[in-house]
Amino acid sequence: MKRREFIHKTAVAGTVIAAGSPLLFAADDHLPLQGKKALFVWGGWSGHDPDKTRDIFVPWMQQMGAEVTVADNLAIYTDETLMNSLDFIVQIWTMGKISGEQEKALLTAVKEHGIGLAGWHGGLCDSFRDNTEYQFMTGGQWVAHPGGVIDYDVNVVDQQDPVTAGLADFHMKSEQYYMHVDPNVKVLATTTFTGEHAAWIDGCVMPVVWKKYYGKGRVFYSSLGHVATDFDVPQALTIMERGILWAAESKYAAFEEWLQPVYKNHGAKG
Ligand SMILES: [Zn+2]
Repeated sequence: MKRREFIHKTAVAGTVIAAGSPLLFAADDHLPLQGKKALFVWGGWSGHDPDKTRDIFVPWMQQMGAEVTVADNLAIYTDETLMNSLDFIVQIWTMGKISGEQEKALLTAVKEHGIGLAGWHGGLCDSFRDNTEYQFMTGGQWVAHPGGVIDYDVNVVDQQDPVTAGLADFHMKSEQYYMHVDPNVKVLATTTFTGEHAAWIDGCVMPVVWKKYYGKGRVFYSSLGHVATDFDVPQALTIMERGILWAAESKYAAFEEWLQPVYKNHGAKG
């Protein structure tokens, strides 16, 4: 490598370390999203800061080397030429309505073409409430956040998975998402509810971060990120960034097999 090139790449790598996930990516001349094509779709309910979170994640994805198309509409999902060129999609779109044609195009991209999908909070798992096949893809649907913005802890339950490796448990002051979750997901972090705001869920352990497949495609979700400032919590940001990197490899990485013994104590005594 020529000296000028070396200096340039070192400078880029320095940016990588400052912006992202130092545990995964040491100084290196290969950017983790180099050559990847991404679509970032933002919109829906404005209370979830789709514009501000766009301005967190799009520049980061670009710094990681991705070529990012940014869209503020769902019609983009029916652009077949664009969709066929993609490696992964990041969506922040709370509630709203998706047309049958748009939904089918998104589902097909993930299920049949293996395009990765990543998102957080209501932008992935409280979108398009009428669309059950969409929920089958994402692996969960928000149903409540008892008490609104409250103090709670997130417990990292998987220290082997690259998304959560090396991260300690951490604290959030935000919405604690109570979700209906697909049992066929790999859970990486959880939170435990108290009975303070809903007595009957006292002690309930709820997934916060998971990965799954929908057909050939990887799907990554974190329930953290009610507002953009939630990503000021370094662990919340790192988890989302690493999850995006995992989803970005959807077309190229080997299928991961796992068994989640969600109901291992079902019927057991004591
Ligand atoms: Zn919220």
